[in-house]
Amino acid sequence: MVAREKVDFLIRKANELISLRNTSQEPVKKERMRDLGIIKGGAIAVHKGKIVAVDKTSKIEQHYRPEVVIDARGNVVMPGFVDPHTHLVFAGAREEEFDMRLQGASYMEILARGGGILKTVQATRKASKEQLVDYGKKTVDVMLKHGTTTVEAKSGYGLTTKDEIKCLEVAKELDETHPIDVASTFLGAHAVPPEYKGETDKYVKLVAEEMILEATNRRLAEFCDVFCEEGVFNVEQSRRILQAGRDCGLKLKIHADELSSLGGAELAAEVKAISAEHLLFASERGLKAMAKEGVMAVLLPTAAFSLMADKYADARKIIQLGVPVALGTDFNPSCWTENMQMAIAFACRKMRLTVAEAVTASTINAAHAVDRAQEVGSLEKGKKANIIILDIPNYKFLGYRFGVNLVDKVIKDGNIVVDKGEVQE
Ligand code: ZN
Repeated sequence: MVAREKVDFLIRKANELISLRNTSQEPVKKERMRDLGIIKGGAIAVHKGKIVAVDKTSKIEQHYRPEVVIDARGNVVMPGFVDPHTHLVFAGAREEEFDMRLQGASYMEILARGGGILKTVQATRKASKEQLVDYGKKTVDVMLKHGTTTVEAKSGYGLTTKDEIKCLEVAKELDETHPIDVASTFLGAHAVPPEYKGETDKYVKLVAEEMILEATNRRLAEFCDVFCEEGVFNVEQSRRILQAGRDCGLKLKIHADELSSLGGAELAAEVKAISAEHLLFASERGLKAMAKEGVMAVLLPTAAFSLMADKYADARKIIQLGVPVALGTDFNPSCWTENMQMAIAFACRKMRLTVAEAVTASTINAAHAVDRAQEVGSLEKGKKANIIILDIPNYKFLGYRFGVNLVDKVIKDGNIVVDKGEVQE
């Protein structure tokens, strides 16, 4: 008998091991989104933070001798969630505005009254870097507890060069000091700050000619995003910012057609963005152009739910047109959820994604949307051992059972960072 290879640990006896194998090369489209690469009775061997092998439990136990054995006890084992769209770094809260919205005020009305995003900008500017790291740490703890092991974080509540840099530095510090991985996006063009009211072009110039350079010179951002929306940044202004981002070597994202049909999807295709987000009002022409250029759709059903307009992106059509779909939370002060399981629950109910499609969208496709698919998003040899064990017998319970945390354990880079639903110190 051949000696068994020594490994740090193995997870055995998953009723379903969701491998999502062979999905790292390109984003998953159309019918393939329903293929989760499930291994019944699966196991996984991990060594030095990386996945060594994934197979049936009997096979894995034949070949590997682990230091530690984790028994999945007939539950679901799957890749950690990747949340590809959050506004992670901010100070304060907007529960008052939520109350106003319940009484009928719209997002744009609140913005016009100096509320909304501008209130968060004020609080974020006032906060020190240390305070923002403290708030951010609370957030990423909750995310981790709910199974998210990689998160994209946008700046965009500073809106001065100094404050945008401060927010990006907070994201960097969270990435370096917390188990969660943070992918950083510069979103200086999130709103027009009050001191530039009526002078949007002047602010666009500041973003395009100063802020982006400062952020990239300090290596604080990997992506550049813009809030392309009526009354915020029009298509031409958005194009200018994205071109400046690309000139600095950033990959491009765009908040597109969330509240109106402005041509954001078309712009995303034109500049060959990695992803376009929201897309509630995206035109068919824009979506077809995205499919042609390989731009992903990042859909945010919890954000649409928070808008309370009962309007959601047409995910079925987007998938049918061949645009690969990812899901995110859009965690921010007006959509305060850290939980990707909620995004899945709403994607299923409100966008009619099948549970399998929603799982693909919140793991490997979300990893593609933040350009991390080579290292996370599926359970395959050589990838980071970012693994979650859910206290459910099969994946169809995701989305079906909602409003509670289904996560039992989270393993990040081979370490158990959440056990019995609690973050391990
Ligand atoms: Zn957003």
